[in-house]
Amino acid sequence: MIIKPKVRGFICINAHPQGCAAHVQEQIDYTRAQGEVEGGPKNVLVIGCSTGYGLASRITAAYGSGAKTLGLCFEKPPTERKTASAGYYNTAAFHAAAEKDGLYARTINGDAFSNDIKAEAIAAIKEDLGKVDLVVYSLASPRRTDPNTGETYNSVLKPIGEGYTAKNLNTDTMKISDMTVEPATDEEINNTVKVMGGEDWEMWMSALAEADVLAEGAKTVSYTYLGDKLTWPIYGHATIGKAKEDLDRAAAAIAERFADKNVSANVAVLKALVTQASSAIPVMPLYMAILFKVMKAKGTHEGCIEQLQRLFTECVYSNSPRLDSDNRYRVDDLELDPATQAEVEAIWPEVTEENLMSLTDYKTYNENFLRLFGFGFDGVDYEAETSPLVSHNF
Ligand code: NAD
Repeated sequence: MIIKPKVRGFICINAHPQGCAAHVQEQIDYTRAQGEVEGGPKNVLVIGCSTGYGLASRITAAYGSGAKTLGLCFEKPPTERKTASAGYYNTAAFHAAAEKDGLYARTINGDAFSNDIKAEAIAAIKEDLGKVDLVVYSLASPRRTDPNTGETYNSVLKPIGEGYTAKNLNTDTMKISDMTVEPATDEEINNTVKVMGGEDWEMWMSALAEADVLAEGAKTVSYTYLGDKLTWPIYGHATIGKAKEDLDRAAAAIAERFADKNVSANVAVLKALVTQASSAIPVMPLYMAILFKVMKAKGTHEGCIEQLQRLFTECVYSNSPRLDSDNRYRVDDLELDPATQAEVEAIWPEVTEENLMSLTDYKTYNENFLRLFGFGFDGVDYEAETSPLVSHNF
């Protein structure tokens, strides 16, 4: 089949296998060019390994430290007539590259919130790795079924307390209009915390400790976004922010509970970037289009792989990690630079449909969005007949 992007709203429903492979290779090449991460991890579990920040974490661990990686993801394999999800192709490409480069890689495709998948991962660690010294928790999901009660919870992206009206770019229609979001109910807030809060991270760490597959001095990180004034009403101070606050509680609880094993647990604050998860959040596409313009002009723009390189070298494996007063690793320093935020805030009210392309870097936003699905890579022939099937399945 000829594979061209099929964008529906804020998602692209197909993906290009060779394009996704090119995206993975580009990140591998970047990591290799940075050289070895001194004192980096050796046996790594990445929960949410197939796209965005989790994929970049896996690549940084494998190609920056020669680590063996066990990945977990929830992705759709291809059929003769339908492409796989991008995360499936990314993971297949990662496996192909790892095999070629003599690096161990194993991936489990299933619901990481479930007890079964936790047990499967533990069995795989015992079989192949013995113990893990780094656990990356990078899940982004709109729902979670509590494995102990069977109840399913859905998260919402809503403000807390009062409704919020803000300028929003509809990336489907390219229309900019005011969008009003009603405040979340208490139940919606609690459900969002249940999905994106720290409970599952804690359950993972407990299961790994009980099975005795956590190495002495193991590290674990979970990712968050804090942002600034423009995004606080819909992110930082909203339902998702509330859920992310719960990660701070979980990090402290994990460190305390496994202190005998010297386990360190930290939340890492990362930059706003186009991923499948973030493109679904109102306000974020326009904010990112402006942010990219400002950060590129300052020479401070980064993608997932650059962020992960700095997270490893400047925080997790640094002797003087950049930690804030809440014990969080900070890699959002360049985004939150006051001069950068001031410029973004100055542009924000000026943007209209007419000047979108000149006042913002929507072009990069859109290119990055399509690249998530393997579209827009040099060297890939998008006119060529392409099989959706791939040789490296997992
Ligand atoms: P993403 O959508 O690119 O990746 C999500 C990953 O989770 C994928 O590997 C997917 O397969 C996996 N996943 C989802 N549900 C699963 C399930 N039930 N079982 C197993 N795997 C499952 O998202 P992302 O943007 O890379 O987000 C990862 C983390 O980083 C999130 O915690 C997010 O809040 C955080 N973060 C994102 C940004 C951003 O701007 N994108 C910024 C800072 C922090």
